[in-house]
Amino acid sequence: MEIALSTQVPKDSTIAIHGGRSLDSHASSILFPLYQTSTFVHDAVGVDKGFSYSRVSNPTVDALEKALGTLEDTPPAVCFRTGMAAVTTLFLSVLKSGDHAIISDVVYGGTMRLFREVLENLGITASFVDSSDPINIETAITPRTRIVFIETPGNPTLKLTDIEAVAQITKRRSILLAVDNTFLTPILQKPFELGADISVLSTTKYIDGHNATVGGSIATRDEELRERLCLIRKTIGTTQAPFEAWLTLQGMKTLPARLRLHCEGASLIAGWLENHPAVAKVYYPGLDSFPQKALAEKQQKSPGAMIAFELKAGVDTTIRALNNVQLCSRAESLGGLETLITHPSSTTHADLEPELRRTLGISDSLVRLSVGLEAPEDIIADLEQAFAAAARGAIQEEVSNEIR
Ligand code: PLP
Repeated sequence: MEIALSTQVPKDSTIAIHGGRSLDSHASSILFPLYQTSTFVHDAVGVDKGFSYSRVSNPTVDALEKALGTLEDTPPAVCFRTGMAAVTTLFLSVLKSGDHAIISDVVYGGTMRLFREVLENLGITASFVDSSDPINIETAITPRTRIVFIETPGNPTLKLTDIEAVAQITKRRSILLAVDNTFLTPILQKPFELGADISVLSTTKYIDGHNATVGGSIATRDEELRERLCLIRKTIGTTQAPFEAWLTLQGMKTLPARLRLHCEGASLIAGWLENHPAVAKVYYPGLDSFPQKALAEKQQKSPGAMIAFELKAGVDTTIRALNNVQLCSRAESLGGLETLITHPSSTTHADLEPELRRTLGISDSLVRLSVGLEAPEDIIADLEQAFAAAARGAIQEEVSNEIR
């Protein structure tokens, strides 16, 4: 039984908890059950209850897809084992040998690696362009361009792309426009309202929100494309697993509430960082110093909760600061309750040549901060002591296990 939402247009926080959700037909449990099974018994040859094998579909994964679809304002999303499984399945679904894609130059390192290590070997090419100026996208289009894939805000420097302006270009040419909306989620940025055809999420991040799972999703209003994604997903086996889907279903209920707190904390911390004498530069779309603040205000509901910054003292001090944090966790990933501090040039973007990283603004002293839900004052105190320890030249002797 589908849970009815009131007739007025429900708000995101209501949709996150109830949208697309149904009570299970067996016991009406308030949480949708975990169908932890590989296969489903057929009533008779050719007769089943809509499920046959969990690589193809599974009721718990289906439930997550419906819930995400209501959040995206699309038909049910398609869920994948990881964010990269989603990105890979998307490109394999819409591109064939000889085809061309245009991709933001500031993009999660794994998306670039996918082209370099896999898709280019299959004869599929990509141009990585500075999508912050839509003209660069228009200029890069070739007769074989099938898809434009933008990541906005881009990982890790938060460079923005004007989704609406790019959509005008792609629509004129009948090219698909995909937005990797992982940093903001449909709560803070609505790609479909801005003209995109496809929304991609690493659900690993804010959607799950508890650093408990890895997963990905793709939403689209194009039914034919959705069917193609499901076909390729079952063919290459990139389907999300039931337990991960179940955990994600629970995590996403608090997404709007969590994001409010994440963003509140990030705004305080970004302001503090900008005024700190040891900090050279802060990248945060809510700051007046952020060159694309106006674009953030136009297309985002909030600046988000990701910050990047550089210390004045350079690489060695930056590494020392990272090695001296105690509350923040030195870790890849983002969007969870725990504040994560990341060194992109040695982790998420380590596979890029140093010269390319420099061109993209990913210096060796760039630090990325995913602001968690600890008290912002405590995060600030931790950064303050880490900066001070780094300035003293302190080398962390042993990692405190008490706090993590
Ligand atoms: N897209 C963005 C913007 C990311 O930051 C990441 C991972 O960090 C991915 C996609 C890939 O997601 P996953 O790690 O779930 O495969």
